[in-house]
Amino acid sequence: MSTGVVMEETYDLVAIGAGPAGESAVELAAFYGFRAVVIEKNRPGGTVTTTGGAPTKTLREAALYLTGFRDRDIYGLDLAAVPGIVLPTIRKRTRDVSELLQRVTAENIARHNVAYVQGHARLGPGRTILVRTPDGQELTLRAKTILIATGSRPVRPKSVAFDDPAVCDSDTILALGRIPKDILIVGGGPVGVEYATICHALGARVTLADTADRLMPMMDGEMSRRMDELFRRWGVTIVLGASADTIVRSTAGNLEVLLSTGAKFQPDTVLFAAGRAANTEGLDLDAWGVKVDSLGRIVIDEHFRIASELVGIGQMVIHFGGTLRDFDQVPMNTPTYSYAYKYAAFDGLRRMDQQRSR
Ligand SMILES: Cc1cc2nc3c(=O)[nH]c(=O)nc-3n(C[C@H](O)[C@H](O)[C@H](O)COP(=O)(O)OP(=O)(O)OC[C@H]3O[C@@H](n4cnc5c(N)ncnc54)[C@H](O)[C@@H]3O)c2cc1C
Repeated sequence: MSTGVVMEETYDLVAIGAGPAGESAVELAAFYGFRAVVIEKNRPGGTVTTTGGAPTKTLREAALYLTGFRDRDIYGLDLAAVPGIVLPTIRKRTRDVSELLQRVTAENIARHNVAYVQGHARLGPGRTILVRTPDGQELTLRAKTILIATGSRPVRPKSVAFDDPAVCDSDTILALGRIPKDILIVGGGPVGVEYATICHALGARVTLADTADRLMPMMDGEMSRRMDELFRRWGVTIVLGASADTIVRSTAGNLEVLLSTGAKFQPDTVLFAAGRAANTEGLDLDAWGVKVDSLGRIVIDEHFRIASELVGIGQMVIHFGGTLRDFDQVPMNTPTYSYAYKYAAFDGLRRMDQQRSR
């Protein structure tokens, strides 16, 4: 999908990436009368509409609804999901919601008179942006300001056998094609606890492992404790202070997970959801003298600037010249949330922050 003649055009703002960050920026720029274009290599709406918020929230809602999960406590009935019925329904609903949001995003962009270019963008010589379109053309755009809003993807450590179809990350689990019976989830952050809820509702045995000493460490400890209690009441096994050192398929054909605690598991599925890396490779940032950290993230200043004429927002940046070593450096005013069975949202100071600042 590309609108208008864009070859060799000059814009006030070129955004690379049509996720929530890029989309909001170009629409705001257009609202204030600037000429803007957004370039997207995948779908309008970014991760939210492909593998993130929209599909996972739909999956979660469908799983809770189709299994009568919310009413289990009232009627004392534990309805097992019938995979042959539930799976196609869930898949269709998830696809429909994602496509609807992609359509709505494309319409919003067009309504704001922002040009949309389908293709893979990178920075070119002489402050240009080069775009490879699906039909093999190369377009050259110029802009007063270039916005990098390329988002992030799941981290894939080498010790994890991602070439095994039963070893997933949050990008690939939606295409698994079956409901796990016994799943080990690595990562007790928002993605991990959300999938733990979904898989438990669908009748799977769930193990949740994290290197931290509590689930959702970016939230207040009391919220972590309540989430921990709820999961344990459901029969979810929680292993804290543990990293998944190796995940391999044995010669006997079993999937084997060895945790740093020495514990071994043989689940039928693994979801590796322990961190994300920025989509900055292939942008040719080097030519602009821009450095990235080991997770591909770019440091921005308080005005979101990376270099002159180059700004960055969204999930591929590190704020305010810091290095994001741990959650203590998440700015205090960054709200966090998780969609486990109970919603958990958090903003402001955690108890440990208050204790430290005394
Ligand atoms: C499983 C999961 C569940 C989530 N649930 C929620 C939720 O419920 N609520 C919530 O608020 N957030 C949720 N998130 C987080 C949310 O998805 C991100 O915060 C958000 O997508 C970040 O927006 P972004 O614009 O920075 O990046 P993205 O949404 O990742 O968008 C970046 C876009 O840039 C494109 N791109 C990358 N490189 C190039 C290139 N070279 N040329 C052209 N295009 C390029 C990509 O294709 C992508 O579309 C979830 C994430 C995951 C993984």
